[in-house]
Amino acid sequence: MDRSRFVIESDKAQEMAKELGLTLRQLLPTLVDSAQSLARPPISQFPVGAVGLGSSGRIFVGVNLEFPGLPLHHSVHAEQFLVTNLSINAEPGLQYFAVSDPPCGHCRQFLQELRGAADINILIISSQNENNNGNPKRDKANSKEFNPLSQYLPERFGPDDLLGKDVPLLLETQENALSFSEFANGEITGKDLKYAALDAANMSHAPYSGCPSGVALVDVEGKVYKGSYMESAAYNPSLGPVQAAIVAYVANGGGGGYEKIVGAVLVEKADALIKQEHTARLLLQCISPNCELKVFHCVSLKKKSKNPS
Ligand SMILES: [Zn+2]
Repeated sequence: MDRSRFVIESDKAQEMAKELGLTLRQLLPTLVDSAQSLARPPISQFPVGAVGLGSSGRIFVGVNLEFPGLPLHHSVHAEQFLVTNLSINAEPGLQYFAVSDPPCGHCRQFLQELRGAADINILIISSQNENNNGNPKRDKANSKEFNPLSQYLPERFGPDDLLGKDVPLLLETQENALSFSEFANGEITGKDLKYAALDAANMSHAPYSGCPSGVALVDVEGKVYKGSYMESAAYNPSLGPVQAAIVAYVANGGGGGYEKIVGAVLVEKADALIKQEHTARLLLQCISPNCELKVFHCVSLKKKSKNPS
């Protein structure tokens, strides 16, 4: 499975839209069927596809992932996959997305972590079909009914309720300043898998717990996939670092089964109030029994801001 199925570069997206005589946002619903075919839902057999337009003009795909043998809360929803895909590709914002079925409450909540979440425009394919007297063959490109997220989740609870206005949100540059030693001098890069995991931890969005973490996976071919832990103001919709790294694996060519993942490193703070280690071990053991997980602890070099009073 090649990466181009999960990210469409902006010039290619323009070209595709032009060929069909569509705008970029009109192109999104036409890509949802093929996105759905990339989903991995062995429990529900209910594939979900989401196709989003980033502020750079690139198009991103998200699909749902389910893991037999594990509790359902380990699943990755298509909208979470979409946001993780944007994050992996350093996309600063999500403007529009089309999705095969209505976003669940969990996803409407997860999306609140993005700056300007209320204005993300969403087109729901199944609702469009219903509105069209149940005719599923309606040309998806003619669907124009994007509605803002604020319509799907009015009176939201979100970052504004818990964080100061200047705290970075999801997809924004994080300021975790993590290192393996407080005496480190530039010791934040290296070829080892643990530095890839440290890098992922430094990009983690964990403003609620203050416990950022990151995972790096390596497959049989030696390719490395990084995933950053992403928190939600509502806690439960948070996405773990292993799930985020599995999104990177699926989106970047890890076309085979998860058993091709042969090594993993988790980096988190030694004194973390919430820890990923046990759940990470459980998830990896289940999907790839021969994958060895190593855990390294880090410290934050972030200067504690002084109370102005
Ligand atoms: Zn969902």
